[in-house]
Amino acid sequence: MGKPTGFMEFGRELPGKRPAAERIKDYNEFVERYSDEQLNKQSARCMNCGIPFCHNGCPLGNVIPEFNDAVYRKNWEEAYEILSSTNNFPEFTGRICPAPCETACVLGINQPAVAIEEIEKHIIEIGFEKGFVKAKKPNLRTGKKVAVIGSGPAGLAAAAQLNYAGHQVTVYERDEKPGGLLRYGIPDFKLEKWVIDRRIALLEEEGVVFRCHANVGVNVRIDDLLREYQAVVLAGGSTVPRNLDVPGRELNGVHFAMEFLKQQNKRNDGSDPLAGAEIESNVIGQDVFATGKNVVVIGGGDTGSDCVGTSNRHGAVSVTQFELLPKPPDDRTAFMPWPTYPMVLKTSSSHEEGCERHWAVATKEFVGDGNGNLKALKIVTLEWTSSSDGRPAQFKEKAGSEKEIPCELALLAMGFVHPQKEGMLNELGIELDERGNVRATERSYQTNIPKVFAAGDIRRGQSLVVWAISEGRECARKVDEFLMGQSLLESRDEVL
Ligand code: FAD
Repeated sequence: MGKPTGFMEFGRELPGKRPAAERIKDYNEFVERYSDEQLNKQSARCMNCGIPFCHNGCPLGNVIPEFNDAVYRKNWEEAYEILSSTNNFPEFTGRICPAPCETACVLGINQPAVAIEEIEKHIIEIGFEKGFVKAKKPNLRTGKKVAVIGSGPAGLAAAAQLNYAGHQVTVYERDEKPGGLLRYGIPDFKLEKWVIDRRIALLEEEGVVFRCHANVGVNVRIDDLLREYQAVVLAGGSTVPRNLDVPGRELNGVHFAMEFLKQQNKRNDGSDPLAGAEIESNVIGQDVFATGKNVVVIGGGDTGSDCVGTSNRHGAVSVTQFELLPKPPDDRTAFMPWPTYPMVLKTSSSHEEGCERHWAVATKEFVGDGNGNLKALKIVTLEWTSSSDGRPAQFKEKAGSEKEIPCELALLAMGFVHPQKEGMLNELGIELDERGNVRATERSYQTNIPKVFAAGDIRRGQSLVVWAISEGRECARKVDEFLMGQSLLESRDEVL
């Protein structure tokens, strides 16, 4: 490894951020870049631990110690080659991945983990600046055609790999532009959209065709795609949000998080925030603003954090976030019902910008002002108990804890239950698993319909960008094997 004693000499350091009070005035990314010296020191902290658990921690099987070594030696081209051999889109994961690789880092046992995610972002951005990132065109065309439905990270990764294997790939996307939740869910302050445009332009140069405003099952017939293509990959994501069906749910001012976030992403993009809303089941077609309001975000995950950051940028009077689960104790041996970590423990940069957080809170009612508008939330504190015999943790309402708090905008950020069944999935007669996701095993990615495969959140359930990319890559290999009898595409199983 670059510097055998690096981990003893240098501490973990992350790049600076623009101050919270300044950055909430715009929607731009705010994490700065390392200096050359900082980057060199951070890569030197990778300690050649013998069995690098980070490989396994990363759903892509990224070959982390090797790229850290190349970064330490300032061999940027080699670092880029190593990183891009397992990850099609490090510019996405380098910005927004919760970095399970860092949780798996062996140095993390005694010291803060190596700053792998930031190093990854620097490798790819330097790679673009130095001109190493070029369109990866196939040497041969196979004459086979594949349709990918959905252009989120899973669909894009599947398209990139299948195109590289020589198949002619067309991506069908119902939205205005490709990117899925990268573009319309995740706010610009975490991922600026030119980053997606830059990658889409490369994919187009490589030969991938994008058809937007193409809602399969609505204005594109799935039967036509099955006739035209030798294989179809479903990568439509997990799009049905979990609802909170308590009295007052119908009031003006109670919205799903995605209505709010998608509109703001569209405004930033200069497009009509309400255009296309009618094609999605969860969007009611009303401008949603937090400006001048007391905002309550219900749900403590990534989506909730993004609502907090966006509300502060809108100029909310107050932003409060509720989580049903209890606050994780400092003492990690104390009771923590799954999935307390990492869902509840996680503090995002949005919380630094202003937010009151409360744990073990349930919303009992949305209270109206008599004119159909939300004016308050009726909430109650929960008491959680665990059982020693392995049964799931239980909660009950704490007597006398019920109270009302002012709220003119409530954002429901409680996750997604499964993909939308109406339209494409029903028309296909696709088999679903017990959670309502498309049934296809992780070994084959194949559904019950001949030549139809599935990858990403539509198969796995709501997850992470890094898992979506991993599923897209692995699924592409299975499609390639199905079409050609064998595949030369890399698989995670071969790296690990
Ligand atoms: P998606 O990204 O959901 O893409 C699916 C695409 O398919 C969409 O563009 C949709 O329009 C299209 N589609 C669906 N049906 C059809 C159809 N019938 N015809 C044509 N097109 C169709 N993960 C992280 O790792 N880090 C984060 O910080 C993070 N933040 C998040 C913030 C928010 C607000 C949300 C909602 C999720 C976040 N996630 C994050 C999770 C991550 O975005 C998803 O796990 C990932 O995008 C799933 O990728 P996918 O390709 O499977 O689906």
